[in-house]
Amino acid sequence: MDTVFLGRFWAKVEKSDGCWEWKASKTSAGYGKIVFHGKLHQAHRISYMIKHGSIPDGMVMDHLCRNRACVNPDHLEPVTQRENLMRGVGGSAINAAKTHCKNGHELAGSNLRVNKCNGSRVCRTCLKEYKKKYEAENIEKVREWWRNKYWKNGRVRKNHSKTDGIYGA
Ligand SMILES: [Zn+2]
Ligand SMILES: [Zn+2]
Repeated sequence: MDTVFLGRFWAKVEKSDGCWEWKASKTSAGYGKIVFHGKLHQAHRISYMIKHGSIPDGMVMDHLCRNRACVNPDHLEPVTQRENLMRGVGGSAINAAKTHCKNGHELAGSNLRVNKCNGSRVCRTCLKEYKKKYEAENIEKVREWWRNKYWKNGRVRKNHSKTDGIYGA
């Protein structure tokens, strides 16, 4: 990593004795994000690489401090995906063991959607309901999102799920 990038990186961080807060933009899951070599990266992973050189193959970063916006490498530990799910404070640990959503739909097969960012397990049936409701209540926002998309792409792709991306899912 070159000094220009490192300067850009650390300018977005507020260091303290505890967590090092990421001050720039974050992913929908709350992790800091930054573009490096033309690709979007999670800031805490970069921070770990700055200190340790690389991340062991197949490992994900666990925030020991449970603060996703934190990029203090001393608060990060590489673990396997599974370990990370089981470790999560309440939320993801309980989530990993959940077989049904709160409305009683089975969290399995095609009804199960796993969020790649935070490993949370989502019920597709409920997600669909949620999207419908969201659209009904935020019709102007949805329309504007479509307008933006249309202008950006020149045309709207066929077979595109109508609302992908609005919720940052
Ligand atoms: Zn921290
Ligand atoms: Zn459900």
